[in-house]
Amino acid sequence: MKISSNIYHTKPKIKKLQTRHILIVLLSATTTILIGIFIYDNTFRLYKNNVHNNNIIPNTSVIESEVTEEKYENIKLEILNINDIPKHAKTYDKNYTFTIKTTNNVVLEKNQKFIDIQKVAKNENIFVVILKNIGNGISNRTIELIDNKQNRIVIDITLEKIAYNLPFGISEIPEWPNTKYTNIYNNLLIVVDKEYRLPHNYEPNDLVEIGKEPYLLYTNIPNIKLRKEAADALKAMLMQYKKDTGKNLVVASGYRSYEEQYKVYVNWIKSLGMKEADKISARPGYSEHQLGTVVDFINEESDYNLDIKFSKGKAFSWLLKYAVEYGFVMSYPENKENITGYSFEPWHWRYIGIENAKKFLKSGKTLNKFLRDMFNIN
Ligand SMILES: [Zn+2]
Repeated sequence: MKISSNIYHTKPKIKKLQTRHILIVLLSATTTILIGIFIYDNTFRLYKNNVHNNNIIPNTSVIESEVTEEKYENIKLEILNINDIPKHAKTYDKNYTFTIKTTNNVVLEKNQKFIDIQKVAKNENIFVVILKNIGNGISNRTIELIDNKQNRIVIDITLEKIAYNLPFGISEIPEWPNTKYTNIYNNLLIVVDKEYRLPHNYEPNDLVEIGKEPYLLYTNIPNIKLRKEAADALKAMLMQYKKDTGKNLVVASGYRSYEEQYKVYVNWIKSLGMKEADKISARPGYSEHQLGTVVDFINEESDYNLDIKFSKGKAFSWLLKYAVEYGFVMSYPENKENITGYSFEPWHWRYIGIENAKKFLKSGKTLNKFLRDMFNIN
């Protein structure tokens, strides 16, 4: 989903500055001459007042201006991920969020209603832009960002809020309290739980289909995707599993976009109600499946369902022993609901890389706590 975006950089300020400098020089010269004339005139005081009222600031010397101009020439403000920003964004929510990476630190230009930005990386200029109060149907938003050198970027985006029939008179799926946008720049180690969420447009750019060559992993659901590194590790793991047991582990799910998660979550509300749904299914934006590094397993031991029975079977014992060697760990262990936010999900395994997986197991923490601690996130 790479749509080119109509983002334009505000024309560098250099030209405007040059004009301003010429004006300043001219004004200074004119002022000197006029002062000379008006010194002999009683209206001197009145003139001074006019200058002030016209907001002409005569106090900049030409030398200072030249220094300023040189600085401007060396500084550019650019968006580095233009292709990730949709021109036309769809959302089921009253808000829509997307990620922007820029050359310089930026803030929101003043007086923009229902727009926020949040920096999500410590050492990089990565921000989440939060568009709020989106009305039904199609609307347009203009976002103006500015750096400390007054360089500006303007982003135009068309929003489409899609009406979705929610059960039990629910008008919208709310965000969890204390929601923050997560550390998306950390590749495999992104914190996703009931406080740290992903932006709407977060989608890994290296997804592969695991039902197709060269993976051909066993699944009866079409189009299951994972990030390439996770898919490679999964293939190696499941080949070993087959060698050891003579059986297949069935992959029931992998990557889910924000939209897909929305539908999955709504279906859980329909069958269980919101309170129970929240124990086993993530609200859209809060799902590890959106990372593209997570799989759910089923097999005959679980009656091919996402069922707690899976934890009593041989496949689960095998995974507990060997999955770490392939970089896979369990996100939602038994009796840790108060920390993870979710019930025991023996079928849900996340790839974090072999070395990280080993460290994680040693730590004895839950995955969300381990990742938060790694990045000093509270
Ligand atoms: Zn899952």
